[in-house]
This record gives sequence, C-alpha cells and structure tokens, in this order.
Amino acid sequence: MNILVINCGSSSLKFQLIDSESEKCIAKGLCERIGIEGSMITYAPEGGEKEKTTTPMPDHTEAIRLVLNALTNEKTGVVKSLDEIGAVGHRIVHGGEKFTYSAIINDEVIAAIKECNDLAPLHNPANLIGIDACKTLMPTTPMVAVFDTAFHQTMPEEAYLYGIPYEYYEKYKVRRYGFHGTSHSYVSKRAAEVLGEDYENLKIVVCHLGNGSSVSAVKNGKCVDTSMGLTPLEGLIMGTRSGDIDPAIIEFLANKEGMTAQEVVNVLNKKSGVLGLSAGLSSDFRDLEDGLAKNDENAIRAMKTFCYRVAKYIGSYAAAMNGIDAICFTAGVGENGPIVRNFVCDRLQFLGIELDQELNNKRGQDLVITTPESKTKVLVIPTNEELAIARETAALVK
Ligand code: AMP
Repeated sequence: MNILVINCGSSSLKFQLIDSESEKCIAKGLCERIGIEGSMITYAPEGGEKEKTTTPMPDHTEAIRLVLNALTNEKTGVVKSLDEIGAVGHRIVHGGEKFTYSAIINDEVIAAIKECNDLAPLHNPANLIGIDACKTLMPTTPMVAVFDTAFHQTMPEEAYLYGIPYEYYEKYKVRRYGFHGTSHSYVSKRAAEVLGEDYENLKIVVCHLGNGSSVSAVKNGKCVDTSMGLTPLEGLIMGTRSGDIDPAIIEFLANKEGMTAQEVVNVLNKKSGVLGLSAGLSSDFRDLEDGLAKNDENAIRAMKTFCYRVAKYIGSYAAAMNGIDAICFTAGVGENGPIVRNFVCDRLQFLGIELDQELNNKRGQDLVITTPESKTKVLVIPTNEELAIARETAALVK
C-alpha cells in the first residue's frame, strides 16, 4: 500500500510517498512559504529529476492539492490516480496524555488533538490544518495521526513530574511530555536489530542531535525518561534553544533588559543554544566544525558546552536505568558529526566506551562505532521518521 506521509508546519509542508511493502520512498518533496508571497513546491520522484516550482499557495489546501497533482502528473507523477494512495499518515506534535499510541483520525481524535493546542500552540494548529486539507481533497482515504509525544508516555511519574505544586499538574497537565518520539522509537528498535539483541532486554540511550535535540532513556523497550519537557525548550543545548536553565534567569533578564517574560522566552527559543553561545557565529554545526578547525574561540566554547550537556544527560540516564548497554547517535548532527561523538564519548570513560575512530568517521549507514572490547556499544543510526510514520499508518489501516 502507498502511504502519503505529511508533516505540516505553519508555513511549510513536507511529504513523502512510501510503499509500505518494500518500505521504499517513491517520491518526496516540500512546500514552502504557504500563505506568503513566493510560495514554492519542490518535488522529487525516486530516480527522477528534482523540480522546484514557484506558484501561489494561499493556504494548506492549495499546497496539498499541488502535492497530489505532482504525484499523479502524467509525465513526472508516480501514481496513476489518487486511488493508488491507500492512506495518509500525519505527524502530530502534541498528543498530551490522551495519545499513548497512533490513532485512526476521526472527529473524536481531531477534537482531542485540538484540546492539546494549548500545549503546542505553534505546531498542533498547523498539523490540524493539514488534516483538514487532506479530508477535503481525499475524503474517503483513511488517515492516521502519529504523535511526537506518544513514545514517551511510558515514563514513570517520578520522571515526568516537575517539582512544582501538584495542582498545576492536576489543573493544567503541566508535566514532561518529550518530543521526537517517533525518532527515539525507530532508532532504539533499529539499534536492537543491528546489535542482534532482544529489544525488551536492553538499556538504550538515544541522542537525537539535530537543530532541535533531545535524549531519551529506553529500558526494556519502553521510554523511561527524556530531556524535552512540557515544550521542546527543555534539556540539551540546541541550535538556537537554550535547553535547561535556572528558571529565575527569565525574571532576572526581563528586569535587566527591559523585556517581557514572553520576549525572554523568545530569546531562549530563537537566539540561544550554540548560536547564542558562539556569540552569533552559527546555529549550524558545520560552521562550528569549520570554526574548530580554525581554533575559533566562539566555536570551541559552543561545541564544548553542547557536548558537555549531552554527556551529562547520558550519565544521568545511566543512573535512571541502572546501567547502559548502548548509546545511539542520530539526526543531522548525531549522524554526521564524528567530532561531537568523540567529544561526548571522551567524557564517558566510566562506561568503558572505546570508539573505533575509523568507524566513527563513516557516514550514512547503521553502524556500531565502538571496538568489540567496548563495554558499552555506541551506534550511529540514521533516523527515518517518515518510514516510522508510514509503518504505524499501514499497521492501523490494514
Ligand atoms: P536536523 O534537524 O536533524 O535536520 O539536523 C540539522 C543540523 O544537522 C544542521 O543544522 C547541522 O547543524 C547539522 N548537520 C547537517 N549535516 C552535517 C554535517 N555534515 N556535519 C555536521 N553537522 C551537520
């Protein structure tokens, strides 16, 4: 069955058409600047030429109409008609406590996703617009919601509660939810396969290090802790997000800089992380690596602080799980950054990690990058959130 995977943002939409039997991507692309002047669609059929077209997209319905036109185009399309698309899988950012698994989309599910809008005001409304647009254009095609938060719903209370008055949890559900769940789930399962071990019998730490970054502890096939919280701002230092800080800094900076709390939080989301630490050099690790090669003190500071925080989280998850069998690196930086992996693993000698430097320099494949003697295994597993969404979708609509 062909599954259309949709990842809808407020002004962008990523898509992939995946054959659920062969698990191959048949076509993929991106709509950008939806509702803004200069909208563009990029469409790439597998094995064909990538095309980029600038065309008006006043809303998401028009964007999805263009995606469906591209997929069914006589010359460059990959399917003859929309009947060849068996289901649509939607990435939904926040499922609150309601969704512990993916769900077939119906009116009740849509209403429950809406109830989570408060928890992800930038993402969930955009995800819902994507659902609505697909409903209009493909009214009889089944759709599935796959939640970023669902995999983390197995966390025990002591891992998800904050040390604040319990009534805020009761009244507003203020707690740790965690994100990137589809990636943490996919990568941890794949690691068990690569190691040839039983997933239910492993203690795995997944480091999803991209522009947004998070770590999770997966014990016996279940997530027991993760670094992102009520929102994706908590945890690791990221491209532009601060990660963990003393919450009193917000009021302190608001007073010093004459900003509102909202403005400070905006700084924490958009101007902090390695971008802020490197004094504005870059949020992109390729630039930081170039800076390191030139001994640039801003790049060194950002890189060292980022890696220290990753190592510290891994250490704390060794305590949470009473040991670690395997550490996985994934996403843009995790998959492509041998320097970051080296810096992090250097700090984890107590876990008996011995990196194989030749393997650490390889890219683009599932790999164990430690020596056979290494007590804790370290792996690089390229994440594939779209495939994970397609799998979940196919399993539910079958
Ligand atoms: P993601 O959010 O997973 O798409 O990751 C995006 C980030 O990965 C970029 O901002 C870069 O910092 C990083 N990245 C991508 N390619 C490389 C590379 N070849 N070397 C180091 N970092 C990379």
